[in-house]
Amino acid sequence: MTRRDWLLSALPLLPPGGGRSLASSRGQADAGSGDAVALQNATRKPVFEQGDARRAGLPGSTLEPFVLAALLERQLVKPVEWIECPGGFRLGDRDLECTHARTAGPLDAVEALAVSCNFWFAVMAKRLGPDGLLKVLRRVGLAARRAPNEEQVCLQALGLAHVSASPWTLSRAYAALLQTGPPALVLQGMRAAVERGTAQRALSERAWIAGKTDTAPGGLPGSSAGWFAGWAMRPDPALCPPAQAAQCLHSRPSIAFAVRVVGGTGGGAAADLGRQVAERWAQGA
Ligand SMILES: [Zn+2]
Repeated sequence: MTRRDWLLSALPLLPPGGGRSLASSRGQADAGSGDAVALQNATRKPVFEQGDARRAGLPGSTLEPFVLAALLERQLVKPVEWIECPGGFRLGDRDLECTHARTAGPLDAVEALAVSCNFWFAVMAKRLGPDGLLKVLRRVGLAARRAPNEEQVCLQALGLAHVSASPWTLSRAYAALLQTGPPALVLQGMRAAVERGTAQRALSERAWIAGKTDTAPGGLPGSSAGWFAGWAMRPDPALCPPAQAAQCLHSRPSIAFAVRVVGGTGGGAAADLGRQVAERWAQGA
């Protein structure tokens, strides 16, 4: 059995419409396969849960879709606003860097989400301010406290301070974001991440997936956790062409999911597991 086959067999998919309390499958998923939750978007009922999915930690830049949605709603960013990324930058006493390739030019919101440009979101988070960002995070049910200064606001927007999430709470937050009708640019950026950005291992013919990856500090000193969170539905180009993806996520069966992989290769490994979760749901639901 290949590792992929093993992972699929370990996923305890519930029957269609299953909303009952999920028995923990802890133990099945501790061999590096990861923690995962998927919920029906329409009802927020779980369709499966795997691993230690209720344990909270730093969610990293999986928060960026919420930040961008709030910036657009409040007209704090123009639909096309370009920022040149220096690659590395400093926030307080922390040196941060973007892992994306050096870009030929400045990035707009869609590309910043697609390649996970921390600098773009650190700059933009200042426009929300500590109270605005706190409201954004709490509105979707995430545990957060007010950042004490501008640098800490940036770190909070990058999911590196003053906020915590588990796959369980993060999947609920993504379901809540979809329910509010996220701006088109948010969905475009999350889909671009899958098609050409950091989440390419989530590209699938069996499930249409849009999401955001990150590699964040893990629960132990020096450890890291790869994250991937977003939405998925069954692909059907005839009924749901790409331009209508946002409407289809609302009108057709779809899921919000969040995946965390500890000790893997970061966001790429999480995207891989997220794809398997979505494909299994798409085939079985
Ligand atoms: Zn960058």
